[in-house]
Amino acid sequence: MTPFFIAGRPATSDDAVEIRHPFDGRVVGSTANATPAQVEEAVAAADAVRAKAAALPASVRAAALDHVSARLKERAEEVAQLITGENGKPLKWSRGEVGRAVSTFRWAAEEARRFSGAVQRLDTDPAATGRIALVKRVPKGPVLGIAPFNFPLNLVAHKVAPAIAVGAPIVLKPAPATPLSALLLGEILAETDLPEGMWSILPIPNDRAPALVADPRLPVVSFTGSGPVGWQIREAVPRKHVTLELGGNAAVLVCEDWDDLDWAATRVATFSNYQAGQSCIAVQRVYVHDRHFDALTERLVAAVEAQVTGSPWEDATDVGPLISEAAAERVESWVGEAVAAGAKLLTGGTRDGANYAPTVLTGVPRDAKVACEEVFGPVLVLERVESDEAGLAAVNDSQYGLQAGVFTRRLDRAFEAHRVLDVGGIVVGDVPSYRADQMPYGGAKASGVGREGLASAMTDYTEDRVMVLTGL
Ligand code: NAD
Repeated sequence: MTPFFIAGRPATSDDAVEIRHPFDGRVVGSTANATPAQVEEAVAAADAVRAKAAALPASVRAAALDHVSARLKERAEEVAQLITGENGKPLKWSRGEVGRAVSTFRWAAEEARRFSGAVQRLDTDPAATGRIALVKRVPKGPVLGIAPFNFPLNLVAHKVAPAIAVGAPIVLKPAPATPLSALLLGEILAETDLPEGMWSILPIPNDRAPALVADPRLPVVSFTGSGPVGWQIREAVPRKHVTLELGGNAAVLVCEDWDDLDWAATRVATFSNYQAGQSCIAVQRVYVHDRHFDALTERLVAAVEAQVTGSPWEDATDVGPLISEAAAERVESWVGEAVAAGAKLLTGGTRDGANYAPTVLTGVPRDAKVACEEVFGPVLVLERVESDEAGLAAVNDSQYGLQAGVFTRRLDRAFEAHRVLDVGGIVVGDVPSYRADQMPYGGAKASGVGREGLASAMTDYTEDRVMVLTGL
């Protein structure tokens, strides 16, 4: 049984949980849920160490982060296999995730060395002649990090690394289906010199999470997951600092001037299906200028049909299972609902257990769930638009706003998209599914509040504390 970690020390309980492989249901590992008494121990330790953690020299924080990055790199293949085992994503995507986590920790180390405050002059007001302000960033306090199943290592890294970088203790709750990657990270964190209490990694069932969210000793909640849970957390603790990284139905616009339809088709096909569509920025809606619609549709359907489905352990596999059969059944029912409402199925639309075939739909009413909700499955909805302007409006016609992809080579169109799209970021010349771990990342509208990305999360976890110096 894989131990969990209370205040940096391995621990276990009688409440064992088995972790099953989504592809064939076999048991790939086990751990245990932390008991309420163990959760209390972890939170009390985080609270007790907060002043010591805030005072840790940058050299110590950066060294710990560098160590984690180096060890993840050394153990990369083992970690990738663990991710595929518990999450079911194809090995090549798991390897990519480990590579990203290596870089997330390395960037955090670099930011820890750089992260400083500011000196502000005050003597613009004659009454303040001889005064300056030193502005220091101080941690708001211990962080509660809550992570989803779809990137069980790198999204945990995005909670843990910035907390260590600023000297904030963190209590991390991994997703119930995928705790093992986070616990392996704990094994590596335990090799560092970080003080006791600085970090805990606690699998707990969902029904015990609200008590942790409400705990006043954890003033910062950084949540990545689904909208309903996220917004409920924000309402439950209005006085806490809550960051929400939630879902989306990311869109692509292929503009009139775009000239490389093969590239657009390949990228859309790949990134509507990667991780079986279980990414918050997987391509879900594709708006294509009338000029390209027929030609792109043909290429896109061919590219989607070329996606290799099957066992996530095969190097050639592009698309593996969804996280559970129930998730695949939900996708199936949403596609069925769209077809019943008049949508045309261009390819896919079949299910085998937790596996759902890469699917392309067109003629989908905008109020069908596959268009207006988050599918979180390998399904894309293709729609013809009469102009680029109509395409930009269509991209915005969503309750969500995480990222958007705009295929154009026109600089003015790119700037227009950047100006008018109500999203956290746009990717020009590619799909919205691109995320570099150091860049600000987050959503508008129902996709969340706040930003991750190392420097952004570090700002989020800290606040200004001013010291005014007088008589200079
Ligand atoms: P989920 O909301 O079901 O679970 C996320 C986490 O919240 C898990 O750890 C879960 O145990 C916990 N949780 C569940 N109920 C809770 C409660 N009442 N109080 C506190 N915590 C609770 O999401 P999921 O299915 O694991 O992940 C998929 C979702 O995550 C999708 O909507 C996806 O778009 C979103 N996501 C967003 C981003 C982003 O950065 N914006 C990245 C990845 C995934």
